[in-house]
Amino acid sequence: MQIPRLTKSIFLDQFLYMQMIGVIIGLSFPLILVGYGFPEREVLTWQFFLITQVAGQMVGLISYVMISMVIRPHLKQLAMKMQDIANSLQDKDFIDYSVKCHHQLCNMDVISNDEIGVSAHAYNQLLEALIDSHESEEVFNKFTKVMSANLEVSTLSEKTIELLVKSTKIEAAAILLFKHGEVKVEATQGILHPESLTEHSSILDAVVKGKAQRITLPKQIQLDGVLTHFTPSEVFVEPIEFKGSHLGVLVAATGAKTADDRTNSTLHLFARSMGLALNNALIHTKFQRLAAYDGLTNVYNRRFGMTRLKEDFARASREQSQLSVMMVDIDHFKKINDNYGHLVGDKAIRLIASILKNTLRDGDIVIRYGGEEFLMILQGANTKDALQVSEKIRHQVQDTIFSEGEQQISLTISVGVCGFPEIQVADEVMLIDKADQALYQAKQSGRNKAIAYGSSLENSD
Ligand code: GH3
Ligand code: MG
Ligand code: MG
Repeated sequence: MQIPRLTKSIFLDQFLYMQMIGVIIGLSFPLILVGYGFPEREVLTWQFFLITQVAGQMVGLISYVMISMVIRPHLKQLAMKMQDIANSLQDKDFIDYSVKCHHQLCNMDVISNDEIGVSAHAYNQLLEALIDSHESEEVFNKFTKVMSANLEVSTLSEKTIELLVKSTKIEAAAILLFKHGEVKVEATQGILHPESLTEHSSILDAVVKGKAQRITLPKQIQLDGVLTHFTPSEVFVEPIEFKGSHLGVLVAATGAKTADDRTNSTLHLFARSMGLALNNALIHTKFQRLAAYDGLTNVYNRRFGMTRLKEDFARASREQSQLSVMMVDIDHFKKINDNYGHLVGDKAIRLIASILKNTLRDGDIVIRYGGEEFLMILQGANTKDALQVSEKIRHQVQDTIFSEGEQQISLTISVGVCGFPEIQVADEVMLIDKADQALYQAKQSGRNKAIAYGSSLENSD
């Protein structure tokens, strides 16, 4: 039943109704007493009416005060908390609010099982859901940023894992990619021997078939000694796909805490959304490779090589560290082309490139500088070191039998070396120029030689 509203305030309405009841009780009480046989001259007097009237009003007032004291504070608290949320949502500082409100700080006390208790409980649940959805949105925004800001496969994978571990109950994760028919660990966090993940049958199954797996382990058992620095309670394997092709998997493990709904949905979302970003990154890497590498020999092309040399020279010049270059040219190459044709010539170029590549140490690079000319950059090497490398290569080329059908073709190379800072040059172009001059000298003095600029040291046999 709805009682008609008198004002805009329910509490004021309640007060007015209680006063009206007080008036009615005050008026009817003397008459009731008469009905019970009390003498009329005593109870139907204006003084008695006044007393009962005041008593009725007092009861109304007390009841209003009691309700205000018992119910109103809870409603007030609920209203204030709701207002706080509304304000923070409006001012877009809900992040601060949700940080502050973690660990039940903003929750309502549920002190009854009536409508007020139910409201308080519902409020707590709503707040939790709101914080949760807000946090999910934040994670998603960060993830979108990671995906759009990173075009390198490795950084994209590393940052995705970092975010996953930071924002969910996941404690260790890895991204495994399917590359050239092999499964490789691209990024990992919190896993002791990540490479052994590639031997795990359910993981391989997920990569090959694109099948999601969820492995729940008893607390004491370690996952095949793979995630050994903590005991995983659950291990998830989510496939990463793009347009039906299996790019890899996202492996994630929880520690003491089990995965909650948000962890599950974040994991699923990350794995699903990564497909497109990863595919873009892979294409980007492919294009970068195409732009940096020479198609025939698969060593760096001249354009990329010169950029690298410029950087390397600038560093060596700044730090006065050693940097040597070697200009390598195949001897009498025109004859090979003329005698056996261009295709055989190409094969010979490829062979020399692979010999050069195999001699390199970490940080050194080979560049196809011209048709059958290669430039090698040796970091931290002085002229003597570079000459030694040149000799090694020169011998190797000389000793390699290059056969074409029945024919055995002998190849030799000449090398010009220039070492910085022993030879002081202003820039990398000058450094190459000096190496070129040394190469010219090697050619002039009979070929199949390695000569350093500024030295009379010659080698041949
Ligand atoms: P030298 O000992 O003085 O170096 O004599 P060379 O005959 O090797 O002379 P040079 O280095 O000037 O010769 C370069 C030749 O390499 C000319 C060109 O026909 C050939 N050449 C350049 N690029 C390619 C290529 O990509 N494939 C093939 N087959 N030949 C190439
Ligand atoms: Mg040549
Ligand atoms: Mg040449």
